Amino acid sequence: MDTSLKLSIVIPCYNEEQVIEETNRRLQQLLEGWIRTALITHYEIIYVNDGSRDSTLKKLKELANRNQNIKIISFSNNFGHQAALTAGLYHATGDAAVSLDADLQDPPEVIEEMIQAYRSGSEIVYGVRKERKTDTFFKRATALAFYKLMLFMGVNCFYNHGDCRLLSQRVLREFKKYEEINRFIRGIIPLMGFNYSIVEYDREKRYAGETKYPLRKMISLAIEGITSFSSVPLRIASLLGFMIFIGTLLLSIWVLIVTLGHASVPGWASTVLPVYFLGGIQLIFFGILGEYIGKIYMEVKKRPLFIIKEKFNFED
Ligand code: UDP
Ligand code: MG
Repeated sequence: MDTSLKLSIVIPCYNEEQVIEETNRRLQQLLEGWIRTALITHYEIIYVNDGSRDSTLKKLKELANRNQNIKIISFSNNFGHQAALTAGLYHATGDAAVSLDADLQDPPEVIEEMIQAYRSGSEIVYGVRKERKTDTFFKRATALAFYKLMLFMGVNCFYNHGDCRLLSQRVLREFKKYEEINRFIRGIIPLMGFNYSIVEYDREKRYAGETKYPLRKMISLAIEGITSFSSVPLRIASLLGFMIFIGTLLLSIWVLIVTLGHASVPGWASTVLPVYFLGGIQLIFFGILGEYIGKIYMEVKKRPLFIIKEKFNFED
């Protein structure tokens, strides 16, 4: 391989003091090895400190002092994983950028295969987890349910693909045109088209520290994913309304027949149950409608996705 290739690595970090040094050590070792074997010619590692409350930033600064290729973007507050990833990708200057989690769950060794796929013409390379042996049963089950639900709602995403992927500089430029505040990057990238390929790997255990995605955040990411990419829930509401309407028409025919036969329609249950049933359904769909209105509200306010407090080792 002769042509020059600069690789950017983007890593969002939120309270990752326990893992960040090990992650950097392993990455830097790999990257320098790849330079020796001429797989790549230059690299940069962009750490995005997403408002960590521990010593993550301090440790990152120590690393950046020793190596000019290590760059830091530090947020003024915790703006979330998707915002951190976005900021990192916006700043990536490489011919290709790979995003990774800070906790070494997506083993950085897989990047080698990604670069090879990029070299043979893929603009996007999705890292897909082969198995989830090391995850708890609960995490596996909820993750599966999440992907299945997304597919059912017509959101085009890759099964078992997290946020570990390679994007070419061309894709990165197009990515900047997606200005939505409610971000679900996993759903945006497949919409963009381009040549893509898939690289499989085994997902490892978190190196240290705790997951930053408890159930609560996972549910909100799922709602985010669905409502940002699909209006199927709204259509379900219309469909259900239509079905109930037809059902009621049929019911009224029955009522007419019974009344004409001089009998009376049996009372209490047939009055009370539909009232509660319909009340419940209406409230559910009000809620769903509300989710979308909330989205619109956030989008029209056009609040910044993140605020950068400090940058290190960037030229400008
Ligand atoms: N993360 C972040 N901001 C947040 C939460 C998480 O930047 O508010 C980062 C975190 O540091 C890690 C990645 O997002 O690099 C994925 O988080 P985690 O490993 O905790 O999620 P899991 O792998 O358990 O789904
Ligand atoms: Mg993780």
